[in-house]
Amino acid sequence: MPCAIGVRIAGASLSAASVDGNRVAGPIHYYPREGDDSLAELPAESFGEALRRTIEQAAAGAEITAIGIGAPGIIREGLIEESPNLPQLKGLHLGALLSAAFPDCAMLILNDADAVAAGIAATRGQLDRVTRVWTLGVGLGFGRYPRTEGIWEAAHCVVTLDPKEKFCGCGGVGHLEGILGYRAMRLRFMDMEPEEIFQQATEGDERCRNFANLWHRALAGATASSIHLDGPGKFYLTGPNSRFVETGLLHVLLHDMVKMSTLQGSYFEVIPTPDEIAIIGAALNAERVMAAR
Ligand SMILES: [Zn+2]
Repeated sequence: MPCAIGVRIAGASLSAASVDGNRVAGPIHYYPREGDDSLAELPAESFGEALRRTIEQAAAGAEITAIGIGAPGIIREGLIEESPNLPQLKGLHLGALLSAAFPDCAMLILNDADAVAAGIAATRGQLDRVTRVWTLGVGLGFGRYPRTEGIWEAAHCVVTLDPKEKFCGCGGVGHLEGILGYRAMRLRFMDMEPEEIFQQATEGDERCRNFANLWHRALAGATASSIHLDGPGKFYLTGPNSRFVETGLLHVLLHDMVKMSTLQGSYFEVIPTPDEIAIIGAALNAERVMAAR
């Protein structure tokens, strides 16, 4: 039986599985396994080799028709243009490398957050609707289903004009990620971990409460910008730092920022997105590329 393979490249691991009918159809295979070098230590060529082997394990001998790969960073036409978490991959033409290894199948390399958005839409039976997701982790991701061409680095949209807001990993001033990113929060509070900041915010510490409010305002602001550009709808919040989200507060702040009557009706939901969600979404997008051929 021919199969589609979905792959997720996350910070520290890559995972792959065969996908059928918007469900993972076999076991999820991971790299690294015990005894393997960590992803961060792999040079680009060995990374390609590890990826190829993991895809072959997921296919388990079946013919592969499509491969979708969700990866962090900016990827265009198979070329990794920016890769903040795995810097050795910057400039790697992953598409060409995999096309050489799997010459007969449709190939799509897409932003991880777009894969997550598609996976959410598929597993919730809402492939007929626009689905957007913020992934909150070390950095920040913004994903959309259906996927559209473009850069879509919404994590770096400007949410404040304060020149002192310069904690974004990209170096830009006033960015969303410079307020919400885990790394940015550690730079801002040199004496406290993000977990402690949000804990003390709930206990009423003024400095921490003010920051928690800013954090939610920034997320509401970036979401309001998306609504003003792309229309209202449902926004999912996921990733390790979605545990800091106070959904009620976020709704109140968003409501203050979006007033045009035709743009009302958006809402937030916090959900866990295990690897299989991104794997399903990556495979689904690759199959659409194949169908469009
Ligand atoms: Zn930035």
